[in-house]
Amino acid sequence: MPMISSISPNNPAETGPRCRDIIYKGDPRVETYKRDAVMAGDPDAVVRPRDMQEVIEVVKWCNGNGTPLTVCGARTSMTGSSVAEGGILLATDRFNKIIDIGEKEGRGYAIVEPAVIAKDFQRIVEEKGLHYPVAPTSCDNAFVGGTVATNATGEDFYKYGPTRSFVREVSFIKADGTTGTFSRGSSAPPAAIKGHGGYFLEGFEIDRLIGSEGTLAVITRIVFDLLPKIPKIFVMLVPFPSHIEALSFIDETNKNNYRPRAIEYIDTFAISLMKTCDACPKFTDDIKACLYIKDESFDGPLEPIIEKWFELISKALEKYPHLLEQTIIAVTDKEKENLHALRHQIPQVISETNEKIEKAGGGKVSGDWWVPKDKMLVTMKKTYEEALPLNIDFTMYGHLGDGHPHTTYLCRTSEEKAKVKELVKLQSRRAAELGGGVAGEHGIGKIKHDLLKIQYPSDVIAKMKELKQKFDPKWILGRGNILDL
Ligand SMILES: Cc1cc2nc3c(=O)[nH]c(=O)nc-3n(C[C@H](O)[C@H](O)[C@H](O)COP(=O)(O)OP(=O)(O)OC[C@H]3O[C@@H](n4cnc5c(N)ncnc54)[C@H](O)[C@@H]3O)c2cc1C
Repeated sequence: MPMISSISPNNPAETGPRCRDIIYKGDPRVETYKRDAVMAGDPDAVVRPRDMQEVIEVVKWCNGNGTPLTVCGARTSMTGSSVAEGGILLATDRFNKIIDIGEKEGRGYAIVEPAVIAKDFQRIVEEKGLHYPVAPTSCDNAFVGGTVATNATGEDFYKYGPTRSFVREVSFIKADGTTGTFSRGSSAPPAAIKGHGGYFLEGFEIDRLIGSEGTLAVITRIVFDLLPKIPKIFVMLVPFPSHIEALSFIDETNKNNYRPRAIEYIDTFAISLMKTCDACPKFTDDIKACLYIKDESFDGPLEPIIEKWFELISKALEKYPHLLEQTIIAVTDKEKENLHALRHQIPQVISETNEKIEKAGGGKVSGDWWVPKDKMLVTMKKTYEEALPLNIDFTMYGHLGDGHPHTTYLCRTSEEKAKVKELVKLQSRRAAELGGGVAGEHGIGKIKHDLLKIQYPSDVIAKMKELKQKFDPKWILGRGNILDL
């Protein structure tokens, strides 16, 4: 198999793909493209095409030479999916145009290139009086192309579902260099569901590409559905005296079919991380868990909705009036920003801690499993029973409304890491057996193949391999992601 090193600067450039911007291995600029959020790769070259014709040339060249081609967006992946272990890394960052935003037949739409930053996209859409509700925590950096390729979810999944729910059309380049567009026409997207990892074999052709982690095609243009109005939003931070009471409150809202925009859980350890933020209020020490609740109104005033939530919370905290007094309700932009900063302090501190413990030989181990809402309370209890006796810093926080906690273990040593990885595997298996999933939002990438085998029987994995074979017979795209070669 010809190696990409055959187009190193010492060799005639015409033997390589026709692309005006190629950075070769050894050039310090390659360093920028080596890592995602969890691992480092080692690409032989990085290409930064200036137009789609160059992308086609690169893809065709790789296909012709059997050279692995990894596509990357902003490289915030949590699974190694955007790093290249050899071969060419195709950086999409030059394709960052918003082509059109508008409204047609009462429905908003946006036509965009893949490298538009998710946060910028949301802001620009709002400037047009429309709304796009999917924002992963990484939205300050992640590209919309990356969010489609991973079917990313944000805290507002609870009401609005994942990226898939808003993707109407995707244009792409296949491994052989041919171009195409998949559209769902005027049909509704599949019911919103958290991720299971691997390819989505139901729905429409477009659904194979969404969440395919760069393994089926290069996404070159996306048409998103938008909400036709900007909602008024408020956020509450509600303290609870115990995990059980906070979790029971979520369980109760689920049972009663209350569907706020988001409902997130923050456990005792996560509160201690939140407290490292200057904006954190002086909570009393008996607060053992918090809920971060976000709701909205499109047409009427917010007050009746706030009152409804306050009534529910007052009932839940009947015996703890001093906790009710510490409830924070954020309505103005400034107040909401402060609460948002508090919530986001948690992954921020985890990431900083991880850097330190990695240097000492340990590191963070995270679970991405989720369970159906009615199994959430019992699963969380069990998870605490398993995790706390390990005497390792451990937290569960995040999308509990969807039965999808971020379980994070901060391991001090490689031995602890190995032990915890086995535990997370067991918990993922249990989640799958309960009807949930092993990969709620981060996908499979290069590091979670074992979980895919837990999630699906071999005949389903065989169907996924058939699909891969159909799109990319030489398996050059996103090699190492999702499926074993
Ligand atoms: C701090 C932090 C918080 C996060 N929070 C969330 C969260 O709340 N929710 C969530 O879902 N995820 C989250 N993530 C994971 C990650 O940010 C998302 O998966 C995001 O969608 C990736 O976007 P990206 O542009 O960085 O893609 P990359 O990491 O560059 O790529 C991810 C995958 O998409 C493929 N890809 C990228 N662009 C294309 C393209 N144009 N065509 C084909 N394939 C492509 C890549 O090959 C790769 O497989 C978080 C990550 C971090 C570091």
